[in-house]
Amino acid sequence: MQCNICEFKLKQFVKRSNDDLLCPNCGSLSRTRRLFNTLTTLPLKGKVLHFSPPQSLSSKLKTISSIHYVTTDFVGEFTTDFHYDITSISADDNTFDIIICYHVLEHIEEDTKAIFELYRVLKPNGICLIQTPFKEGDLYEDYSITSEEGRKSAFGQEDHVRVYSVDALNKRLQAAGFSTNLISATSDSFSGFRNETYIEAIKP
Ligand SMILES: [Zn+2]
Repeated sequence: MQCNICEFKLKQFVKRSNDDLLCPNCGSLSRTRRLFNTLTTLPLKGKVLHFSPPQSLSSKLKTISSIHYVTTDFVGEFTTDFHYDITSISADDNTFDIIICYHVLEHIEEDTKAIFELYRVLKPNGICLIQTPFKEGDLYEDYSITSEEGRKSAFGQEDHVRVYSVDALNKRLQAAGFSTNLISATSDSFSGFRNETYIEAIKP
C-alpha cells in the first residue's frame, strides 16, 4: 500500500472509529487522497483556490509549479493565505481555474450565496470540486437548531448547519448555473480510498 500524497509505503492505513483510513505519515484521510488523485487527472494549470485545506494536501500542491495555488480559511482553523468569507469572496469575477471546496458548505447558513460566489470567482470552463457529508433521501436543515449539542445530534457535528443529500446539493449547484457531474468513486485498498461521492461543478 502507498499514500499517493506523501508517497510513503505502508503495511496498512490506520483505521479510525468512523472507518476512515488515515495515512500514518502525513495524516491524510481517504477523501483527501482521492481528491489528490482526481486533481492529477485534470489539467493542473492556472490559479487554484483551496478552501480549508488539509495540511497534507496543501503541502503537496504547493510543490506543483504549474499552478498558482492559494489557500483560504475563514475561521482560522487552518493556516492559509487568505481568510475569505465564502459568502462574499474578496476576489474578482472569473479569477480561478480550479476551486476545491470540500467539507465547507455544510457549515454555511447562507450556502446559496456561497455557491453563487464560487460560481462568480470561477473562470468559464473552470471546475469546482465539491464534497460534503451526504445522507440518503432529502437534505436536512433547520436554522432554529443553534446549540452545539443540538447541531451535533441533528447534523452530525457541532458546527454543521445541515446535512445534504447528493441530489439536493446538486440542485443548488445547478440553480447557480453550474453544470455538474456526480462522481461515485469506489474503494481501493492499495491507495486507501473508500466508496464516496463528490461533485464536479463546471462553469459553462
Ligand atoms: Zn501520506
